[in-house]
Amino acid sequence: MKPRSFTHLCLLFLAFASISVLLPMTGSAAQQTQTAVINGADVITGSAIEGGLIIARTTPGSRVEIDGTAVPVSGTGLFLVGFHHQSDTPQTIRITSGDGGRHSTVVTPVQRDYDIQRIDGLEPKMVTPPEDVIKRIKSDSKAVREARTRIAPLGDFVDGFDWPVRGRISGVFGSQRILNGKPRAPHYGIDIAAPKGTAVLAPASGRVTLVMDLYYSGWTILMAHGLGLNSSFLHLDQVAVSTGETVQRGTLLGWVGSSGRSTGPHLDWRLDWQGRRLDAALIAGPMPQ
Ligand SMILES: [Zn+2]
Repeated sequence: MKPRSFTHLCLLFLAFASISVLLPMTGSAAQQTQTAVINGADVITGSAIEGGLIIARTTPGSRVEIDGTAVPVSGTGLFLVGFHHQSDTPQTIRITSGDGGRHSTVVTPVQRDYDIQRIDGLEPKMVTPPEDVIKRIKSDSKAVREARTRIAPLGDFVDGFDWPVRGRISGVFGSQRILNGKPRAPHYGIDIAAPKGTAVLAPASGRVTLVMDLYYSGWTILMAHGLGLNSSFLHLDQVAVSTGETVQRGTLLGWVGSSGRSTGPHLDWRLDWQGRRLDAALIAGPMPQ
């Protein structure tokens, strides 16, 4: 039995501290050390695993496609391959170099087990948001979707990410609740519990693409790191940057809080690439003590 302190802090539409206490989290980020092989490229870091991110370099001027869709490639040939939370089918990476050389690699991501909690017998009003907030939730999602498409020059995340905050991990990537038999969206973030007012620092350089107070996630900052990779920081108490700002690694972004639908102060940090949700904990590695 995990201690009660491991319960999830980042709630959906429920006011149910009591329920989360009854159902402690058991999931943990899978550790993966093997490095992928991509024909026509050198893998710098990462492996093919659900939630994982490969950083690789090919010949400058090459075109890289995953299952037929072109992905961003830097002027020096750097590109990313991210694997969604659920990716159980093989993916084909095709590289066409400037001189016409072609390489093809089929990768099948390692599958992970996620923490699934079934909660039945809830009153319908606890599971479905009221009509008047649904409109707000929809406009929030649209703003976030648009922000995720904004591009930024390549940042320094190739050297690794720093943890934006240090603290106890109170929620993991991929956990999911099934309420009254209806699966909710999986939790795509990593929750780090920290006192309200703790500084949140940019884990790598990039450009701020959204600063907004959203219904579920409260004060939220989105940041583009380059090559289509984005970070989000949720439930902030206050923010210290504005949309469009370019920030360096270690820049103060804001302060830990509990804004939006949250039961206690924590930072929910998320990473996404080309619509795929990645596990920030897997990519940042073990948190330094
Ligand atoms: Zn969370």
